[in-house]
Amino acid sequence: MTDNALPERSRKAVWHPCTQMKQHETLPLIALARAEGVWLYGHDGKRYLDAVGSWWVNLFGHGNSRINAAIRSQLDTMEHVMLAGFTHEPVVELSERLSKLVPGKLGHCFYSSDGASAVEIALKMSFHYWRNSGHPEKSVFVSVQNGYHGETLGALSVTDVALFADAYAPLLRQSAHVSTPDWRYASEGEFPRDHALRAAATLEAYLAEHHAQTAAFIVEPLVQGAAGMGMYHPDYLKRAREICDKYQVHLIADEIAVGFGRTGTLFACEQAGIAADIMCLGKGLSGGYLPLSVVMTTEKVYEAFYDDNVARGFLHSHTHAGNALACRAALAVLDIFEQEHIIDANRVKASYLNHAARPIASHPKVKNFRNCGMIWAFDVETSDPAFVGKFSQAALKQELSLRPLGNTVYFMPPYIIDQPQMDLLVSGTLRVLESC
Ligand SMILES: *Cc1c(COP(=O)(O)O)cnc(C)c1O
Repeated sequence: MTDNALPERSRKAVWHPCTQMKQHETLPLIALARAEGVWLYGHDGKRYLDAVGSWWVNLFGHGNSRINAAIRSQLDTMEHVMLAGFTHEPVVELSERLSKLVPGKLGHCFYSSDGASAVEIALKMSFHYWRNSGHPEKSVFVSVQNGYHGETLGALSVTDVALFADAYAPLLRQSAHVSTPDWRYASEGEFPRDHALRAAATLEAYLAEHHAQTAAFIVEPLVQGAAGMGMYHPDYLKRAREICDKYQVHLIADEIAVGFGRTGTLFACEQAGIAADIMCLGKGLSGGYLPLSVVMTTEKVYEAFYDDNVARGFLHSHTHAGNALACRAALAVLDIFEQEHIIDANRVKASYLNHAARPIASHPKVKNFRNCGMIWAFDVETSDPAFVGKFSQAALKQELSLRPLGNTVYFMPPYIIDQPQMDLLVSGTLRVLESC
């Protein structure tokens, strides 16, 4: 179907996310007709390589035949039922399998739809645990400078991205932010590990003073996504784990963006050899197909709610919790990881792209070229306030869907990307750099 009026109809009827709508007076929306593999196809027949994985969710390409088949067969059986009072095979199987895969013993899975709602659940669960354990005064959360945990009010309270949070400051809970371990903030000549340990010392100093009021420390393991793919040394997490244990504070690992292989291991915490008390997963969990998130926790946390008294239970809910179609998609994702040896295959792809991208890393306008697993990022020297729009538009002309975060350009491609597609990603990006 061709419909040239679609962008204009959308501009009038659809309020697009994370967008100043007025910009679409001059920057046209792209109406997509279909998607297959790494490619998004416009109504006009043009194609775009989905280099940001449709906002970090797409793992195995669009229209993946295995995930499609899994959803189709579930669709013919049962699409959705409420998860209170009822259960079903996809949600039970997914919970059992996830519990075996994540670091530590997180045997209890609480479901929701989006990442932000998973973060809300984690924060409430931590606070309520302490309340049920005789410590209602533990009600403050500490998070990391430049951290991002979603847009709902609780999640935004532990987020430190001014552009998203400042307008709502009067609505947000006070929460503390400790120094970021992101190595871009290291002092001249300082090693990333030393910088990370210096950042961890600010967490220790904060908790030494405030642990009695603090319920949890929430962190994005290894990569601070929305901060501009800020990467840091895993020893930060190791220290944070020790500090949280010492001061009786929960460690919440927000692996919504970094989980499912993005950092080179199935979960980022593995690289630090730590386990969280509460872990949030989302985004890639369903392969980017359907909204699905999960909060996983320990026997100890779960036990604090287990009681004859209803009010001691965790009475939180989201209507679509444990949606059967989404769980089936997630099970297909886990099958693909196991049967197609994705983590190993990604290592080979990452080394190819690192090699191919050398001209980007050494480009005179580029600083801090970095890679972690299947995430690449670099900062562009620019003072142009319209950089994001200009770069994205120029990228589309090179058949690339790229959406910089400030002056940071990043790649989070689907794992099915092949070598010619990686070459195209690099050569197109170099041409965009020349024109911006
Ligand atoms: C995207 C993201 C969220 C929020 O997830 P939504 O599904 O967009 O609500 C939370 N935490 C991190 C680290 C994220 O990257």
